[in-house]
Order: sequence, then structure tokens, then C-alpha cells
Amino acid sequence: MRVNGQRSLADGSLADLTQRRARLAARFDQLKAAGLKLDLTRGKPDADQLALSDGLDGVLGGDYRATDGTDVRNYGGIRGIPEARKLGAEILGTNADDVIAAGNSSLTLMYQVVEAALAFGLFGERTAWRDESAARGRPVKFLCPVPGYDRHFAICEALGIEMVAVPMTDRGPDMDFVERAVGDDPMIKAIWCVPKYSNPTGCIYDEATVARIARLPARAGKHFLVLWDNAYAVHDLESPAPRLTSIAPLAAAAGQADHVVQFASTSKITFAGAGVAFAAGSPTVLARLERYLGAMEIGPDKVNQLRHARFLSGRLEAHMRAHALLIAPKFAAVLNRLEASLGNLRIARWTKPKGGYFISFETEPGLAKRVVALAREAGVTLTPAGATHPYGRDPEDATIRIAPTFAALRDVEAATEVFALCVELASVEKLIAERSAPPSAPRASVDKK
Ligand code: PLP
Repeated sequence: MRVNGQRSLADGSLADLTQRRARLAARFDQLKAAGLKLDLTRGKPDADQLALSDGLDGVLGGDYRATDGTDVRNYGGIRGIPEARKLGAEILGTNADDVIAAGNSSLTLMYQVVEAALAFGLFGERTAWRDESAARGRPVKFLCPVPGYDRHFAICEALGIEMVAVPMTDRGPDMDFVERAVGDDPMIKAIWCVPKYSNPTGCIYDEATVARIARLPARAGKHFLVLWDNAYAVHDLESPAPRLTSIAPLAAAAGQADHVVQFASTSKITFAGAGVAFAAGSPTVLARLERYLGAMEIGPDKVNQLRHARFLSGRLEAHMRAHALLIAPKFAAVLNRLEASLGNLRIARWTKPKGGYFISFETEPGLAKRVVALAREAGVTLTPAGATHPYGRDPEDATIRIAPTFAALRDVEAATEVFALCVELASVEKLIAERSAPPSAPRASVDKK
């Protein structure tokens, strides 16, 4: 993250701040009266992005045969059809043999992998985490880099897994912290990773971090798993796109191939509600997963898999560039407005992702909830403060996730103007409260960490 600007709002006198608050409050009241209804909450593609994939409809033209002769209309084929597995391999940068092509949601696959590891064991008989948990009388724990993805945390909560927050850096999770944690506690069984355009910071794990994560299972307790959620593998805003170091060869070289499961989907490539999801792993893990999934279903939606494989064959990159053309102006609108409104005030910092779906914004400690509440009052809905942290608790109350893709460009601009105003107003309120506090009361620091 970057610290913006040089002059600080905190340099102003109490009289300056009071005047400023009056001006901001007047503008806030104006915006409130305008009755805005704007939404920057969930990272969803907008209708124009979805329309890029309308060609899926009818692409099969009555030809339902996969390359291996499978009639995709019928039951069967837990691992998916070959051309869909090839598509998953292209997205994940791995081999088709290592990929399962499944239903429409990679989150479902993540849930299934975690549940299989808990209850059934991914590494053979008697490897279930739950058995070890019962034997030791201690809960299973996961490492959760923060800020992170709320739905990863929801999977942990649903399955009774305790979450351990890990600080994020610009290069990925703080690996000194991570290595210490897994070395100290054998009940830490997994780490969530969104290695490219991380949700929400947008950072890309650097090579050294990927290499350390690939070796991590060797330092951890038994049956450790790296959950490599590469949801934004091909979701670049710039060309040439930055490259993510491939984890699979590094894990294999470290003898840890069984301990990394990768995920991706076409949710933000084609239709968010009707895409194809992928998991990639070692032969041992895929065989266990196939058995587990086989108890749940006779086979995935192979018609959709074939549609996707035919539609995207040879044109994935061009298709993603078309997405970038639609999304990039929205990211630029947010970043330009934040810079123009807040760039010189030194009251906040934010990330400038080169891809993915989110911008992570950090207020002064203790202000995120207040900013989200002010924005709601002025007609702009934001992801609830705290959603980026396990159990919805951001100890600093500072992180806000901004999702610019779904709203129309003019709404993104308007919403960011309101948002920036709310940040400034909340920050001024805080400074005034601190300066007005009785001398005996300790004065909270406004310095950035
Ligand atoms: N993983 C991450 C990091 C995401 O940000 C999202 C959606 O926002 C998903 C997974 C959802 O994936 P899917 O639609 O394949 O379930």
C-alpha cells in the first residue's frame, strides 16, 4: 500500500477543522437530499460484461459429443470432459490431467475439499482432520490472511474451523508469521490464499512468497493443505499482464505436491451464475476427491462444460481483454476520485490493483464502520466494515472493500465522490474529538501504522 500525499489534514488548527467540518456536513446534507441509491458492495460483473458471453447460447449447435466421444447430455464423468479440464489447466497454468472440471462454483468445490479433508481425509485412510482434532481435544484451525475474502471465512465458520488472522503485505501473507504459526501449532491445517489480485488488496504474491508457501506443508503438522484460490488468474487490467509464479512445480520439487489444491472458475469470465469451476491437485488428492464427489453426484453439468470449452477455445486472452476494456475505466474512476479528494490529506491509503475485482481502502483506525454508516445515510451501500476479517471483526476498524465493477461508470464516479466525502468527514470528526478531549484524557495517535 501507498501513503498518499505530503500535507496532512491533522496539520490544521481546531478552528480550521471546525470550519472544514461545517463545509463537509453541508455538502453531505446536499448529497443526502439528492436521494442517491448507489451500490459498491459485491464484486459482480455488470450486464455488459455478461453480454460478452452471450455467444455461449447456441454454440453447441446440436453437437453434444466431447472430444473423447462422451455424449455430454448423459450422466457420468466426475472429473469432467477433457476439453473443459484443458480449459481449467489453461486458466490455472497447469496440466489437464491434474484438473477436475466441476459445476458452476469454485466456492462449492472449496467447501467440498475442506469438508472432505475434515471428515474423510484427503491423503488416504485415517487422515481426516476431525479424527486428529478429537484425539487431541483441540479444534482444527486455518490461517486466514487479512484483509481477505469473507466467503472463505464463512466456509470455516460453517464447518467449525477456528480462524487465525495473518497480516497481508504487498507481496502476499507475512510469511515469517505464517511459518512461525504452523511450526508452533500442529492443529493449523490449511491456509487460504488468493495469490493473484488478492481479494481485496489486489496484490500478487511474489516469487519468494510462492516458494515459501510451496514448502510450508513440510514445516506444518500432518496433512496440511494450501488452498490456492486463483479466482483472478486471468483477470488482468493491463497488458502485458503481471505473472504469478506457478506453485505446483515448486510444491512438487519440495515433495509437497499432495498438499496444494488450486481452484478457479469461469464465473468472472463468462456467466457468474452459470460458469464452470475447476480444482487442480495431485493424483492422490484428485482420486480421494473423486470418491468423495462421487458419493454426492453422478456427474457435473457437462453440457455447460462443452459450451464453455468451445466458446473460449483459442480466445480466452482476447475475451479477458474485452472485460478489461469495460472494467478498467471503473477502477480508474475510483482511483482518480480518491486521489483528487483525499490524495493530499494523509487520512487514508488504498491499493491500486492491476486486475481482479477489488480495491482495499484503509481509514484511520476506528473509522471504517463510521464511514460505511455515513455512506449508507447518503445513499451509497458499501460492503460492511469488518467483512474482510474473520468473524467480521476488524480489530483496527479500518478496512473497507470497494467493488467497482457492477455499477454503471457514472454511478461509480458518483458513489466514490460520496465515499471520499464520508471518509473526510469522519476523519475531521475524529480529529476534532481528539483535540477537544479533556487534557487528562489520553490522546489517540493519528499517525499511520
Ligand atoms: N474466490 C474469490 C477470491 C472470489 O473473490 C470469488 C468471488 O468473488 C469467488 C472465489 C467465487 O467463485 P465462484 O463463483 O467460482 O464460486
